[in-house]
Amino acid sequence: MKPRNEELFARAQARIPAGVNSPVRAFRAVGGTPPFFERASGAHLWDAEGRRYIDYVCSWGPMVAGHTHPAVVEAVQAAAARALSFGAPTEAEVQMAETLCRLVPSLELVRLLSSGTEAAMTAIRLARGFTGRSVIVKFEGCYHGHADSLLVKAGSGALTFGHPSSAGVPAETAAHTVVLDYNDARQVAALFDARGAEIAGVIVEPVAGNMNLVLPAPGFLEALREQCTRQGAVLIFDEVMTGFRVATGGAQARFGIRPDLTTLGKVIGGGLPVAAVGGRRDIMQKIAPLGPVYQAGTLSGNPVALAAGLATLELVEAPGFQERVAATARSLCEGLAAEAKRAGIAFSSQSIGSMFGLYFREVPPTSFAEVMQCDAPRFNRFFAAMLARGVYLAPSAYEAGFVSFAHDAADIEQTLRAARESFALAA
Ligand SMILES: *Cc1c(COP(=O)(O)O)cnc(C)c1O
Repeated sequence: MKPRNEELFARAQARIPAGVNSPVRAFRAVGGTPPFFERASGAHLWDAEGRRYIDYVCSWGPMVAGHTHPAVVEAVQAAAARALSFGAPTEAEVQMAETLCRLVPSLELVRLLSSGTEAAMTAIRLARGFTGRSVIVKFEGCYHGHADSLLVKAGSGALTFGHPSSAGVPAETAAHTVVLDYNDARQVAALFDARGAEIAGVIVEPVAGNMNLVLPAPGFLEALREQCTRQGAVLIFDEVMTGFRVATGGAQARFGIRPDLTTLGKVIGGGLPVAAVGGRRDIMQKIAPLGPVYQAGTLSGNPVALAAGLATLELVEAPGFQERVAATARSLCEGLAAEAKRAGIAFSSQSIGSMFGLYFREVPPTSFAEVMQCDAPRFNRFFAAMLARGVYLAPSAYEAGFVSFAHDAADIEQTLRAARESFALAA
């Protein structure tokens, strides 16, 4: 009899393209069979064969409080017992909107939706509707979900498969998207000088987390703010990943830059589908039914999903939360760098808040081109060795990593023991 993970993967591939419902899950870049998970608790996952893993994916970001936190599970169970969905207003939506506006500095009005993709799509539609212009500026390696006009040179999922854009996106649609190099303020200034009056908005991950982890260079975000203000373009911070991870108030709080619009997702649903777009009142007032920019959702503001999100945000807001997760990410990064050095491997790492990047090169990358210089085959060997030792890293050299409040010193210690053997095997 086949091992259970392999059996499930074979069945999955018979009925689901590549056996998965989101591409990177298929393990195509790293090879092998993805574990099929059955349950999770705190920092740990268990697969269909009963094997335990320390989780550094955290569902790609949302599980910042750790898996199945009792406060979150209880809130979800209570909400589910009351109602699964109304498609009509609830107090939970008011609480979520108030909480987001209180915690994220630039938010004046917010609209809740169900995915980061929807949030980014709505943000650029708002930018276009507000300005009456067409051009959207994005940066190579940044991912903003899979809406047509944003699926141009779009980071990890696309990178992993080596075609940075997608078939099925009309050239006419992509033609309104200008792609520049992340961290290159001079390119931004040159574009604004040449075509400023056509630019509806600039969308950026204020800390890039979809081409591994790339920090904004000093002055880069400031330059975006300055150019957008000067030319009347809408500055959109896509904080779907950075929100409540880089800081409680997101990257905008950490770097002191006020975007015009912000997208949120991942953490604000605590593991269930919640996302948001929010920002300046005058721009948000353009959204239907107040204004002419259409947006809607049958399950938007779903009460069960919001219960998970609100309970998670309550935990995230507690004193000491951000300090603890940031310290955990730092000690992981420092420990891994020390183990790599011991094995004589070119490696670097860095973290910001509860996000981290691991790079098989001497120093952390500052651009997409530098990310591409990382030794991906060596990462793949390291990944496989870590997985075999019960450490679940993201299955691609181009993804950021995440820790949660539940990761403790014993988890880090066990991870570093596994890393000592894995670096030696990957050398
Ligand atoms: C994950 C992510 C998205 C897309 O969110 P989905 O909920 O997967 O649609 C958009 N932007 C960024 C920065 C993300 O990390």
